[in-house]
Amino acid sequence: MINDRPTELRVDLDELLNNYNKLTSLNNKKTGIAIVKADSYGLGARIIADHLYKNGVRHFATATLEEALELKDVIFDSMVLVLGVTNPQNVKYAVENNVSLTCPSKEWLEKCLEEMESIEGKLKIHVKIDTGMGRIGTSDKDELVKIDKLLLSEKIDFEGIFSHYSNADGSDNNYDDYQTKNFDERIKLFTHKPKYIHIGNSASTVKYSDRQDQYNMTRLGISLYGCYPSENIEKLDKINLDPVVSLVSKVTHVKKFLKGEKLGYGVSYEAKEDEYIATVPIGYADGILRRAQGFKIKVGSEDCEIVGRVCMDQLMVRCSENIKVGDDVLIFGENNGQKISVDDFATYQDTISYEIFCCINKRVPRVYYKNKMEL
Ligand SMILES: *Cc1c(COP(=O)(O)O)cnc(C)c1O
Repeated sequence: MINDRPTELRVDLDELLNNYNKLTSLNNKKTGIAIVKADSYGLGARIIADHLYKNGVRHFATATLEEALELKDVIFDSMVLVLGVTNPQNVKYAVENNVSLTCPSKEWLEKCLEEMESIEGKLKIHVKIDTGMGRIGTSDKDELVKIDKLLLSEKIDFEGIFSHYSNADGSDNNYDDYQTKNFDERIKLFTHKPKYIHIGNSASTVKYSDRQDQYNMTRLGISLYGCYPSENIEKLDKINLDPVVSLVSKVTHVKKFLKGEKLGYGVSYEAKEDEYIATVPIGYADGILRRAQGFKIKVGSEDCEIVGRVCMDQLMVRCSENIKVGDDVLIFGENNGQKISVDDFATYQDTISYEIFCCINKRVPRVYYKNKMEL
């Protein structure tokens, strides 16, 4: 296949691994689960998981059973935990492939145990406790006691208990402390302790790096990919994450506009003076949404405003007369000494880096770097 369009999403695998190592050493040596759900936040889970595995990472998590199964031939014997709710009818795939499942309720566990009657082997389980996120898992103490009894079944390998902070990227600790207290109270209800206890995400891993607690595992998502979960966490200045992801392209067309000439759908832009306009081959079909209009991207070393509406496959920027066809364009990340933070790009559009990454459409080729060389 040729790769004619110069638009690409670059992922630096070395920086990603550096971030994993920095985060796990920051966090009292808790085991770090690499969160590779949603195709590693859209960046390409197979290549990322393969690189992490080859460098010693043995714990992963995905959102779905399908995502976990797709990775088995690159992460082999590693733990892979499905964070969402798996249909009990499919537990055999989890057992056959050594995938760990999240137990969201007693009812779910009962259904799985019925399925397990005709299945050889053990089902690996992490019990999800809802401590205040209000998503999956149970907070009910009686239900947890019943779950604890069911876990004694020889068909179950009780591997973990976990919960999820909903406000760890916030500026105070109040709700985190409330959730931690709820978690501790409920862990006590279990008559035997599993191998892993985890509640942390990127934000709390950084925020509570110096806390000594009974948890021995933490879940690392956005921070692996080089972004702070929020400005609050970045401001703590506890860790210096290496940027991992860059979205780049090149100018495909340049033209001169005379004062008063208009451009784009809805003719929403009019040249205020004689000026130059460059066209870049990326648009909303690639995940650069119309709300990015007005943001300044880099063309060469110039800051160039996106003018007119973002089209499906292209967008236009205002630039100087020095810009030529073939000049480098940086939408976010780093290229040739130029930098734009993905957080600035996200904040401009009232969103977060997570959403920006996940929205970069599959049409944009993912290009991976090791030792600063393209793979
Ligand atoms: C996505 C997810 C994470 C990772 O969150 P980050 O903020 O990206 O670190 C951790 N735990 C659960 C349950 C998740 O769904």
